[in-house]
Amino acid sequence: IFSALRPQQPDALLALIAMHRADQRGEKIDVGVGVYRDRSGLTPVMRAVKMAETRLVAQQSSKSYLGSDGDIRFTQLLGELIFSAQSVDDDRRFGLQTPGGTGALRVGAALLTRAMPDARVWVSQPTWPNHAPIFAEAGMATLTHPYFDAKTGGIAFDLMLTALDEARAGDVVLLHGCCHNPTGTQFSVEQWQALAALCSLRGLIPFIDLAYHGLGDDLAPDGAGARMMMEAVPAALLAYSCDKNFALYRDRVGALFVQAPSAPLAEMARANTLALARSLWSMPPDHGAAVVRMILDDPALRKDWRSELERMRTRLNRMRTALAAAHPLLAPIARQRGLFSRLPIDPQTVEALRDHHGIYMPADGRINVAGLNDANIGRFIEGLLPHLEE
Ligand code: PMP
Repeated sequence: IFSALRPQQPDALLALIAMHRADQRGEKIDVGVGVYRDRSGLTPVMRAVKMAETRLVAQQSSKSYLGSDGDIRFTQLLGELIFSAQSVDDDRRFGLQTPGGTGALRVGAALLTRAMPDARVWVSQPTWPNHAPIFAEAGMATLTHPYFDAKTGGIAFDLMLTALDEARAGDVVLLHGCCHNPTGTQFSVEQWQALAALCSLRGLIPFIDLAYHGLGDDLAPDGAGARMMMEAVPAALLAYSCDKNFALYRDRVGALFVQAPSAPLAEMARANTLALARSLWSMPPDHGAAVVRMILDDPALRKDWRSELERMRTRLNRMRTALAAAHPLLAPIARQRGLFSRLPIDPQTVEALRDHHGIYMPADGRINVAGLNDANIGRFIEGLLPHLEE
């Protein structure tokens, strides 16, 4: 047993965390790990979350099982936050709670392979490194399309569309809803429209990954592309993560929303998704979703959550503006959104920044903007500038 297994690539980010931890220099800077940090470098529990958790502990009278769809009120409130109350009532749509955005992608991928065994999924080059493994485990082959234009720091949209000419009807197109990981780029309204037209015309299935809702420009604009896409096409999936915008990371909070071409097909897809969820995790962990439900259901907690989310977003965008002002090659960072941007530097420079300045990032030059603050951004820029070519 186990002798046929092949060695696995160690997680590069975990190795980076270990290296950063072992670094004794007081002035080290971590822009590697992908979590939000406040201006003192901490990833705190949000105020509204703490408050809801206190209430939950006091009020919860049973931990008896829920069902495979988890906390139904949570999913309904989340659906209303992303779409609108009417569209959540659409009988061609359903949602279920999942263990994080990862769980939503995984069970969504399983549903798609069960429905269309020959379908393939198209992902951007680059994308979140876990996308291809998630789809592979569900039995779906991954193809990549060009996406990032390193010269402009924007999206190589024409090249993306040209590559998608090769997509077959029934293929899945994975789209980051906002705040693309790792490049910080986002589709414009016109680009979402063009993608919606392409999916409708060619019978492609959009699978939207919305993991940073509210961390770009605000909840409404960050969800606008996803909303528009779901309105425009007959069938689509959306994987949602509450782990960044509610800072609930380890509590694993997310949901999958599915839209089918008709109500009977939606019911069939729902029954199959629940059966798949049962075999994957039986039912999702309750705590974090119960907390999100309590926040969204209580006007005062909801207001407080939104204002803390706005502070997080404002801080990110302030760091973006400061970085962008430091050098013309960094200018695109001001237009990019979310936690991540990709610096125009090579792996040797990444290594040099680590060795000489204690600045930690993965080899592809992705930085987590939240790792920067007023106390360290000067040193970061000073270390970086000599490596940028005009
Ligand atoms: N999609 C993207 C693009 C992400 O960056 C992440 C988290 N790094 C996820 C999905 C998964 O989020 P979760 O932690 O909720 O599983």
